[in-house]
Amino acid sequence: MSREQKAVERARKAFATGRTKSLEYRINQLKSLQRLIEERQKEIADALKKDLSRSEVGTSLYETVGLEGEIQQVIRNLAKWAAPRPAAKNLLTLSDQVYIQPQPLGVILIIGAWNYPWAVTIQPLIGAIAAGNAAVIKPSEVSVHTSKVMEELLPLYIDKEMYPVVTGGVSETQELLKQRFDHIFYTGNCAVGKLIMEAASKYLTPVTLELGGKSPCYIDKNCDLTIACRRIAWGKYSNCGQTCIAPDYVLCDPSIQDRVIEEIRKCVKEFYTDDPKSCPDYGRIINQRHFKRVMALLQDSTLAVGGENDESQCYIAPTVLKDVKPEAKVMQEEIFGPLLPIINVSSVDEAIKFINEREKPLALYIFTSDNKLIQRMISETSSGGVLANDCLVHYSVSSLPFGGVGNSGMGSYHGKFSFDHLSHLKGCLIKQLKMEGANQMRYAPHTAKKLSWARFFMLKEAQLSKLGRLALLGMLAVIAAVIIQCTIFLFWQKHLCFLYYYNQL
Ligand code: NAD
Repeated sequence: MSREQKAVERARKAFATGRTKSLEYRINQLKSLQRLIEERQKEIADALKKDLSRSEVGTSLYETVGLEGEIQQVIRNLAKWAAPRPAAKNLLTLSDQVYIQPQPLGVILIIGAWNYPWAVTIQPLIGAIAAGNAAVIKPSEVSVHTSKVMEELLPLYIDKEMYPVVTGGVSETQELLKQRFDHIFYTGNCAVGKLIMEAASKYLTPVTLELGGKSPCYIDKNCDLTIACRRIAWGKYSNCGQTCIAPDYVLCDPSIQDRVIEEIRKCVKEFYTDDPKSCPDYGRIINQRHFKRVMALLQDSTLAVGGENDESQCYIAPTVLKDVKPEAKVMQEEIFGPLLPIINVSSVDEAIKFINEREKPLALYIFTSDNKLIQRMISETSSGGVLANDCLVHYSVSSLPFGGVGNSGMGSYHGKFSFDHLSHLKGCLIKQLKMEGANQMRYAPHTAKKLSWARFFMLKEAQLSKLGRLALLGMLAVIAAVIIQCTIFLFWQKHLCFLYYYNQL
């Protein structure tokens, strides 16, 4: 039996004990995870420094603070989320119990990526624990040091039988994918996403694919360019551009291109000094393979800012490319590095057409003071999410679902969305063995009269307006009240008669 097979079996056995059913168990696991984050901050940050040259503050800001917030939110709300949820009734179910019972799915496989390795691996784990599942955790081998730290630390804090960590590369992941799971939660690129879906089809396992793509950023002439470019520069160059929702490219009118370039140049200097290479807040490309890939994207475009690089350190300076043609290399794939191409478009219509001719992105950014334009972009384009007048921060709003559409992924999570996504929302209808008369209309022999009653109950009610429904309910309430009053009256009449005769005797 392979190591991967053993891990899955261990998790399945642990799940079968039923201990995840207890909300107290889930909360204890989440509290332990929180303790891990608090107590092991230094080990987490040191590993990320080695993997991505991330600063300690950067690690807290971009990874662990969000996880702590997510855990706190789950602990606060778990009892409410896990409780039966009353569902709307109709005329036929008026006296029944109708509700949704969230239930754990079973064993979840979580496959993480390397760019924010804690955030994208542990955030789904929080959802899996909250929903009462077991989980096999497969961190990305690309963030070598972080993967090792996860393998060492997680079993010290959370139930290692229920949540085993499996490290390794492609072959280990493929071995895992041969096993049976109840859900697979994958974060990474589209090409591997397709392999995941293929493997999942063997057991009809549902999948969540958190993928990437080219997220466009439209800048309207009518906006404060200084603030817009500051927020774009932050969104683009954080983590050296290796963010799934980084603004991939800018679309703007040619008349503002030069100002955009100058504003971004100023921000790069403000954020990372004149020499980003020696700035502790500026990161590195994850490895030489990705360094070469990103550098090759520069080939047929014109540099406006940056371009300096050093292969030995996987360093690429914050870069802006101007007058980029749609056919340029940099426009053929997700950049996932610190290059910002600017593509000139002469109108909003052209920008919308440009976006709609390409794969659906994970995020769409719009910078404008015109609310109508924001609404138009939202309604005329399709993307995982939309953020107007800022970058990245929609990721941290846990009341919003986070996920892609089309090529940028399927399924969404964060906060309650994670809980629901990793639960089976079981529909429950509890009837009594009474009121059999109401069922006559569905039993044979079928007659036109019975059908007309069925039509009334099944269709008329749905067609009634809210007011009509209220009137109908009111009428039913009046009938019920009359029946109750009559019953009470008859009851007292009977007893008074009895007392009368008793006194006579
Ligand atoms: P990666 O190379 O770390 O791969 C992700 C996981 O897939 C790893 O655990 C790896 O072991 C596994 N894997 C790789 N090749 C495989 C194969 N052939 N068969 C089976 N498993 C395999 O990460 P990546 O794909 O380079 O990540 C970057 C991509 O992820 C970008 O496209 C980015 O936009 C996307 N991403 C998306 C999100 C999101 O939340 N939507 C977050 C982060 C990254």
